[in-house]
Amino acid sequence: MIEIQNVHKSFGPLKVLKGIDLTVEKGEVVTVIGGSGSGKSTLLTCINGLEPIDTGRILVDGTEVHARTTDLNRLRQNIGIVFQQWNAFPHLTVLENVTLAPRKVLGIGKAEAEAIAEKQLRHVGLGDKLSTFPSRLSGGQQQRMAIARALAMSPDYMLFDEVTSALDPQLVGEVLETLKMLAEEGMTMICVTHEMAFARDVSDRVAYFHKGIMAEIGAPEQIFGDPQHPETRAFLASVR
Ligand code: ADP
Ligand code: MG
Repeated sequence: MIEIQNVHKSFGPLKVLKGIDLTVEKGEVVTVIGGSGSGKSTLLTCINGLEPIDTGRILVDGTEVHARTTDLNRLRQNIGIVFQQWNAFPHLTVLENVTLAPRKVLGIGKAEAEAIAEKQLRHVGLGDKLSTFPSRLSGGQQQRMAIARALAMSPDYMLFDEVTSALDPQLVGEVLETLKMLAEEGMTMICVTHEMAFARDVSDRVAYFHKGIMAEIGAPEQIFGDPQHPETRAFLASVR
């Protein structure tokens, strides 16, 4: 499980996270919604140790992410992260791109790494694109390749940061379907998203971020049907 305890984080004088508390249980899907600049992406990068925090603690399966003794490389193997865009290596095929990290980071042999990569690519519906080059894929296919690449490391946790925001509208659905499939398989996930229908449909809980504070968290029916915080109401009205 992921335990976020009273986390504060600044960039210079700018306070970006102001005391975030959130526990994500094994198998839970938490979506994070909120306005631009509210700290959503920063929270994800703190969880996998890409960014330091000022005070508080983040524990992943009991391991404190920001403790000096923590092996961040090992931790990150267990926490896949997918961003708006991933620049695949253009000179490598889809299969080779997905094979890279298991080979280099986990030291898995070529044949086994290819078997893992192929399995994950089939899983996200790209079984017929193994020998294609990334530039020949649509944006939605590229995002699914990025998801397969993260899954190839066999993570227990997946973090998604607006993975559909850079896509043409007609390509959003296929990527959200892939996330939904992972959620239904029991993957523990934190998804930052602007897709409210997806958040309502897939989440166990929805967290609303406002100016570095988690203003509200609850079941999707509650957040979308009966938001308590005036800022949540204003935000939902603005995106509807
Ligand atoms: P969100 O994902 O909710 O849009 P972010 O977490 O990306 O918000 O950013 C929160 C605030 O922190 C914004 O004001 C942003 O400009 C600032 N910020 C994010 N990353 C950095 C950075 N590396 N250096 C300085 N400021 C940053
Ligand atoms: Mg962001």
